[in-house]
Amino acid sequence: LVGAAQALALAKNNISCVLVDKARTQDVLKATHDGRVSAISQASVKVLHHIGVWEELSFHANPIERIMVTEGARSAKVVFDANEVGEPFGFMLPNIYLRQALLRAVLDNATMIDFREVCGVKDVVITPSVQAVLEDETLLRAELLVIADGRYSTLRDKVGIHARKFEYGQEAIVCTIWHEKPHLNTATEWFFPVGPLAVLPMQGGHHSCVVWTEKEGMAAYIAGLPKATFCEELALKLQGVMGNISLESEVFRYPLNLFQASRYTAQNTVVIGDAAHAIHPIAGQGVNLGYRDVAALTEILVEAKRHGHTLGNATYLQRYQQWRSFDAASMIAVTDGLNRLFSTEKRSVKALRQLGMAAFERIKPAKMLFMEAAMGVSGDLPKMLQSKPI
Ligand SMILES: Cc1cc2nc3c(=O)[nH]c(=O)nc-3n(C[C@H](O)[C@H](O)[C@H](O)COP(=O)(O)OP(=O)(O)OC[C@H]3O[C@@H](n4cnc5c(N)ncnc54)[C@H](O)[C@@H]3O)c2cc1C
Repeated sequence: LVGAAQALALAKNNISCVLVDKARTQDVLKATHDGRVSAISQASVKVLHHIGVWEELSFHANPIERIMVTEGARSAKVVFDANEVGEPFGFMLPNIYLRQALLRAVLDNATMIDFREVCGVKDVVITPSVQAVLEDETLLRAELLVIADGRYSTLRDKVGIHARKFEYGQEAIVCTIWHEKPHLNTATEWFFPVGPLAVLPMQGGHHSCVVWTEKEGMAAYIAGLPKATFCEELALKLQGVMGNISLESEVFRYPLNLFQASRYTAQNTVVIGDAAHAIHPIAGQGVNLGYRDVAALTEILVEAKRHGHTLGNATYLQRYQQWRSFDAASMIAVTDGLNRLFSTEKRSVKALRQLGMAAFERIKPAKMLFMEAAMGVSGDLPKMLQSKPI
């Protein structure tokens, strides 16, 4: 999701590249919606617009007009209303449409993007330039290597970038459901001691994506339940607020862990997306963080080129590192902290949490800060996210 977007952003700004992916294009293009969906922030929409894929994607996107955070039907709630910021917080978009739109755009940009599919990078040698050996033994040379091979990145290690890893002991159960009561474009995050459960609004008013966190082991048990029992369990967990529920997709499971690269640059190399920072999905911000990397790195590389430097110029790469590390560290702290704060049954913490939520609901400036962060429009924004020319 992030590497292809980066290649397109470079192409759009007259920087050519080779894009290498292990996946088979035809398999991705033939696939249908499988139940996996991402919350795409307004800032990410600007990136997707810049690279020319948003118009096509907007037909599949459902706006998020309200975000509700609660510990249960009768507990304190915090409600964020998009009317207060004048536009939806973001959109729910099935992952497959995003992958397909990116791939089609990559194929349409053949003059700027030399795309090698079904072919992983096997090895990397950093000399004054970069040499990458592909699995078919092809040798590629470039000024800069952009590593975007996801949270279990192998290339990160090959260039000597260490990543801190933390296992949450939780798994996310992911599926798409039909529900009797309409979602009214509301994304609801239920907090339970075992972890959060998000119900995220999809097109049609009665369809939502569920990201249900459970302890390892329990997640396997729940995901393996017969369909009808699974839906009954889910309806019970949601205390009936969505009415009857039926399953509309396969049930997926993802182990939840945190990866944080110790640095985002090495000689002639940068890391972006989950390869740099893979976070807990509690706030639905992983790919959004990756798209902010894309916006920042594109701006820095365009500037380096404009000033006659190579793309691997250390001073410019250092600026990428400084720019992105603060945003990523803040997001890691928020997602990690939220997960810990809500995943406890200690009575003292629970009482304080309820008080805190009731107070937060009434503090307008704090709510405004949260809403801007959810939209990805706070902090030191790259020009692409301000819709300004780079
Ligand atoms: C349950 C769950 C729910 C989520 N929900 C949201 C959400 O609502 N909103 C949000 O913003 N984020 C969400 N995320 C996070 C989001 O899915 C990730 O941040 C995003 O997929 C990261 O994209 P990426 O391109 O960096 O990595 P990936 O999507 O992992 O892509 C890595 C790519 O690298 C390729 N590759 C791997 N190894 C090699 C190699 N050696 N050579 C060449 N290619 C290679 C792979 O084929 C793949 O195409 C969620 C995550 C989970 C687990």
